[in-house]
Formats: sequence, structure tokens, C-alpha cells
Amino acid sequence: MDIEDLGERIIAGDRRALAQAITLIESGRADHRAQATELLEAVRGTGREAIRIGLSGTPGVGKSTFIESFGLMLTGQGLKVAVLAVDPSSARSGGSILGDKTRMERLSRAPGAFIRPSPSRSHLGGVARRTREAVALCEAAGFDVVLIETVGVGQSETVVAEMSDIFVLLMAPAGGDELQGVKRGIMEIADLILVNKADGDLKAAAQRTRSDYAGALRLLRKRAQDPEGFPKAICVSALQDDGLVEAWDEMRALIEWRRDEGHFAARRAAQAQSWFTEELRQGLLARLDAPEARAEMERYARAVAEGGITPAAAATEMLEKLGR
Ligand code: GDP
Repeated sequence: MDIEDLGERIIAGDRRALAQAITLIESGRADHRAQATELLEAVRGTGREAIRIGLSGTPGVGKSTFIESFGLMLTGQGLKVAVLAVDPSSARSGGSILGDKTRMERLSRAPGAFIRPSPSRSHLGGVARRTREAVALCEAAGFDVVLIETVGVGQSETVVAEMSDIFVLLMAPAGGDELQGVKRGIMEIADLILVNKADGDLKAAAQRTRSDYAGALRLLRKRAQDPEGFPKAICVSALQDDGLVEAWDEMRALIEWRRDEGHFAARRAAQAQSWFTEELRQGLLARLDAPEARAEMERYARAVAEGGITPAAAATEMLEKLGR
């Protein structure tokens, strides 16, 4: 594969090249990994910067409906929108909650939109790496907005928040008791809570839920990276295209403030640093997993069991060998 050419086509906005490149970064093969690394380096430094929006919500809350309506609104304004997904369920069971091909059909046909389902057969760490890299490729391809969708399962929200500029939580209208069931951790990482389904019979409940969340958000410690009034809760109806413009206005206002205050760049720099650390960690673990390393490790383990060497000395020697 001609990586330089692939990089050039991505930067030129070629969707097929982008799709092909994402397939490459999803591959587990060592030669593909080397090519993926080369590709990421080749598309670096375009100076292009998308707004990265993380979006989470439990199944049925209306994520695909929202992304479709919201995405169509943005593409209608001439913006280019990419949708990526982090779906831990697809890793575990092979079946996915997200990423089903029939979702977001209208958006998938819209010019300016690019949708890529979550990869399967990989652990959350693997999906996270692939998504970070896919975000970088979409950005190089000139997308204005990259939406990263996830379900409220396990650690996936934190993983997505850590690769996003803002994190949006989609919620359904709920009774007061249900509100208490919302994990505190996720409230703490949310920048914007959208109470969806604020239409018809559900409208009044949605408004009550919104004000409950707004109250709960006010109780959280104020974060340095937030202007007055954030994090915020507003009502939307993805089905009736209600509140989407307001939601976008809030997101842009937050981004603009963070840019002006230097938080935007600082957050991205910190994210890049932790991405590096994570790569390093994963790289070391992969070395440990190689057949020769496993055999070596077994030899040391036996020696440790027989008292021939102390565990600490065995680990030190083994690490030295891995470092080579
Ligand atoms: P997801 O599992 O989070 O992706 O949720 P879906 O987008 O598939 O929506 C789940 C159900 O909620 C579907 O039957 C939608 O039609 C419905 N739904 C989504 N958004 C709205 C909304 O704004 N109002 C109402 N009344 N129903 C909605």
C-alpha cells in the first residue's frame, strides 16, 4: 500500500481513502500497524481542527435519532460531519448496540457526512486507540465536526470524554427517583446535558427532568475550564428537530470561551500526552505478549518458583531484555 498517496487522498477529502485508512488502523496485523503509524504521521500538521463532540446516552434515549437530526442540521449549514462510535458491547458479544447499518440512514446519504460504526472483536483499549486515530484522520480530511458516540456502559464514557473537546450527555425524561440513579462520575464529565424527547406527552416531564439536572449540576464543584452557567442542561426533541440550534449554539459558545481562555489547546495537549503514555504502555504489553517473551517469562517464573532468583531481580532482568 502506498501510504503517502493514501495520506494525500485523505487530505484531499477522498471518503473512500478515509474509509480504507480506518480499516487499516483497525487491523491487528503488525505490518498494518506500522503503516497506520506512518499514515498518521503523514497526515499530521494540516492545521485543520474539527470540533470533537463526545456523545453518550443509554440505549433507547435517542442517540441515533439525535445524531441524524443534529448531523443533518449541521450538513445543511454546509458543515462536514463525521460520526464515529465506541461500542464496548460489540467487543464483548460480537453484536453491537451501536453501529447497526440501518441507523442514521438519511444522514449517511447526506453529502458532507461520514459515518463509521464501532469496530468489533476488540477490547475497549483497542477500540479507544482506533477511535483516537480515526478522529485524527477525519480531522485531516477536513471535517468540521467529529461526533463520537458511545453507550453508557462501563468505562466507555470516560474513554470518549478523554478524546473529545466537549462531552454531551443525552438523557430521557425521568421521574425524580431515576435521577438519583445517574452516576455521579458521568455528571462530572458532562459539559452539556440534553434532555431528549421534550415533545408531546413527555414534554412536561422533560422540563421537570431538565430542571432537576440543572439543580444537580449546580451542586458540582466549579471546573476551571467552564464559563459561568456551565455545565448546562437543556431540553431537545430529536424527533421534532426542536432545540437543536440552541444545543449547537451552547456547544459553540463553550468551545469559543475555552479557546479564548486557552483551555481548549491545553486540553488537547493533555489528551495527546495521555495518548502517548497509553501507546507506550500498550506497546510494552504487546512486547510482553510476544512468543519469545512469553517463553522467557516462563523460564524466569520457574526460576523464581525454585528460589533460583528473587522476583525483583527476575523482573529487572526481564525488563532489560524487553527494552532491547
Ligand atoms: P438510541 O438507542 O439511543 O440510538 O435511540 P434511538 O435513536 O434508536 O431512539 C429510540 C426510540 O426513541 C425510537 O423509537 C425513537 O423514535 C424514539 N425517539 C428518539 N428521539 C425522540 C424524541 O425526540 N421524541 C420522542 N417522542 N421519541 C424519540
